[in-house]
Amino acid sequence: MAADVIDGGAIAQKITDGLKEEIATLTAAGRQPHLVAVQVGENPASRIYVRNQKKQCEEVGIRYTLDELPEDTTEAGLLAHVDKLNADPDVSAIILQMPVPAGVNARRVQMQIAPNKDAEGMNPANLGMLLYGGGEIGPCTAVGAVELIKSTGVEVKGKDAVVVGHSEIVGKPIALLLLGLNATTSVCHIFTQDLAKFTRQAEILVVAAGKSQAVWLRYKRMKKKDPNTPAPDLSPLISADMIKPGAIVIDVAINRIPVALDGDGKPTLNKKGKPAMKTVGDVDFEAAKEIASFITPVPGGVGPMTVARLLHNTVAAAKSNG
Ligand code: NAD
Repeated sequence: MAADVIDGGAIAQKITDGLKEEIATLTAAGRQPHLVAVQVGENPASRIYVRNQKKQCEEVGIRYTLDELPEDTTEAGLLAHVDKLNADPDVSAIILQMPVPAGVNARRVQMQIAPNKDAEGMNPANLGMLLYGGGEIGPCTAVGAVELIKSTGVEVKGKDAVVVGHSEIVGKPIALLLLGLNATTSVCHIFTQDLAKFTRQAEILVVAAGKSQAVWLRYKRMKKKDPNTPAPDLSPLISADMIKPGAIVIDVAINRIPVALDGDGKPTLNKKGKPAMKTVGDVDFEAAKEIASFITPVPGGVGPMTVARLLHNTVAAAKSNG
């Protein structure tokens, strides 16, 4: 039987609808939540992200300010700016836009954001709370992904869970949250020798590797140096035969890759004459859907939950600062 496709957009909408009431109450009390995004220099991808953030904040009644700092801002300058925002009672929450210029240690700057103004939940104090099951403010994508697992109504306790990916921002926090729910949790990563051995045992499988995009970007770099580089294999990391029948499958990855490659390994073009690109996850969705019990699509799964959790953290920060 085909899996239930988890509608991350609808679940995220419920979260944001709930936030609207809290925001209205805070605003009526003269404490409208205010998110400040700090962007250093110009970056087209970040610009789109910022535009969406602003729209999403304003839709729920959160005030949004973009602080644009010049490209040549030093790490010390950026830290001083964060200190100023930390001390400003008018600012509820802060987010550092990626990427930052070379020479600035983004992690160092994120750590400077006060734990109770930490929109992304990346301060060590908030990450540390994951050891205790998570605090009010937590890393957005990880918390959002685990909320999607909970939304299935399936008891997590005692299940075999496998997380593919061990980054600080996604894989490790998800693993800690699953441990907190008493799943028997394994974490796989790039050095895992037999990935399928683990994934085939997973009753809950969370995948956050971004494999196809990494392969595509690596290929582009190599092709520049050596035009004879063979075309890459952009197939998903997780094929259907790597999934245990009846598993819950949460695909966190966002891979922007070509729709197809021509004989020279170049992307085929769209109607506008630009490379035709698509957004996919790490899981072979169509095939996996026939095997899993629940599965998230990409896009429309974890992505909207990340945004909902960012808004949640901003409101939680506004409440704690009041
Ligand atoms: P990252 O590059 O920091 O970490 C990738 C992880 O995957 C590492 O632990 C690495 O060891 C592992 N990995 C890479 N290739 C692998 C392979 N072939 N086999 C096994 N493990 C492998 O990336 P990240 O920031 O953790 O993001 C992971 C993915 O999640 C990316 O696709 C990213 O775009 C996506 N993401 C999505 C959202 C969202 O809102 N949906 C948010 C953040 C990240």
